[in-house]
Formats: sequence, structure tokens, C-alpha cells
Amino acid sequence: MPTRFAPSPTGHLHLGHAFSAITAWNISQKTDKKFILRIEDIDLQRCKVEYEKQIFDDLEWLGLTWEKPVIRQKNRFNSYREAIDILGNKNLIYPCSCTRKDINEALSAPQNNKIPKIYTGACRNRSMSEAKKTDNIRINIDKSINYLKKLNHKSLVFVDDYYQQNLINIPFESQHLQEDIIVARKEIGTSYHLSVVVDDAFQDITHVVRGADLFSSTPIQRLLQELLELPQPLYHHHRLILDEDGKRLAKREASTALSILRESGVKPIELKRSLDLIN
Ligand SMILES: [Zn+2]
Repeated sequence: MPTRFAPSPTGHLHLGHAFSAITAWNISQKTDKKFILRIEDIDLQRCKVEYEKQIFDDLEWLGLTWEKPVIRQKNRFNSYREAIDILGNKNLIYPCSCTRKDINEALSAPQNNKIPKIYTGACRNRSMSEAKKTDNIRINIDKSINYLKKLNHKSLVFVDDYYQQNLINIPFESQHLQEDIIVARKEIGTSYHLSVVVDDAFQDITHVVRGADLFSSTPIQRLLQELLELPQPLYHHHRLILDEDGKRLAKREASTALSILRESGVKPIELKRSLDLIN
């Protein structure tokens, strides 16, 4: 089962990344040994070459090996454009010119006692033919769900083996399927969710291994897979590595950075033991 580790070179990898990468690598070693490293660098402004180099050095230090060549998302913008066109041809997306300020103001007046949506769909009636470079592209979530209902989908499902081969059912009414999220950010032409599902399919990833913090991203990614007619992988959302205060580790924190640990003489075996990755 091909697995993947897909970091963004926007900072140092830390212990949480090591846990994720080793967990994915271990799963791949039990089957076909295909472990794929994907560099998620669509955000050209924030991604840095030195962080990318550090990713390779850190993973090598951990003793991991991966398939070559390594795919970089910054070389895949044409594929994301094609995916956007598929959604556009199905009439499921629209351009949005709202600024963050517009959206916050819309939020301050809750409507009909419903859980306030972060984006209220002010641009829903605009068509893709009038899309400008300065527009974000949003998915029309209601139209998308109706599209799937017409194909006889009753809900979205996925298998998460971390929860004992649990079949997770996501009703269309789920709180994770309420917002017209951005599928293509202005000037970038794609988004995290869109490029992940396009590339997981492109790279034949059958087993998506990632932290439990991304569990809430899975419903929208499953939706995009169905709309784009992409195969669905198995999921393995693993526990998160927390700091001493029980908080999630941050990329800017130096104390848990793999590069710092490596340079201070920590051995990979000690690190794996501390993460409970060795019996
Ligand atoms: Zn808008």
C-alpha cells in the first residue's frame, strides 16, 4: 500500500512530523514498501529552499527511504487547473471577491439561529466566466451535495483504520460540509484540499497517514474526490505528539525541531523510543 509523507517547507520539521513520517513508513514496509515523499509548496511566498533541504536531511537521518523522483506541488499547477475546470464544467464553483473583512462583518449577524457559516455565499450567483485574477474560487457546497445525491450518494464514507477499520459515515448535514470553502486561492490557483486530493490520486496513494488534527479535513477531501471521480484511499489518522503543556507542537518552536535534535547529538533510535515507535 503506497503511503506518503507530505510536508510543507515553511519551517523546521519537529517531533510530530517525525512521528507521522515514521508511522507512514512503517505501514509501507509491511506491504509493498512504497513510501512517497511529496513536497507541498503551493504557497510560493512562504516555502523556502533551506527548509526543503532540511526535510531531506531530517528524513535521511531518521533512516527513511522514499520513491524517486520526489513530486513538488509547485510543478503541478496545470493538473490543479484541470481539476478546477472539471468542477467548473459541472457548474459547482464560482469566483468570490470578498475580503476577509467582508466575511468577518457577515459573521457578526447570525442568521435564523443556524450555526453561523464562516462564509455566507455572497458571491454565489457569480459565474466562472466573470472570474478575475483577484478572485478566490469557491465551491458551492449545496450544489455539490445535490450533484452527489443525484448520483444516489446518501452520505460520504471513508475507512479509518486507526479507529479499528471503522467505516466513518459523514452525513451531508455534517458541520464539515456547510461552507463554500475556497478551492483555488487567488494568485495561487489551487488550495491545500484540492492539490492534496489531485496528487494522492496521481501518485496512487492508497493509504493516507496523517495526524488526527487533519481528521476534520477528510470530509471535504472525500467530497472533492467524489466530484472529481478520483479513487478513495484508506485513512490512518494518528495521535498527535504534544508538548509538556499538552499543546500541539509548532514549526517555529526550536526545542523540538529535528534539525536541532540531530545537531545536538540525539540518536534516531532514542527519538523513536521517546515517541513509542519501538517496542
Ligand atoms: Zn464572496
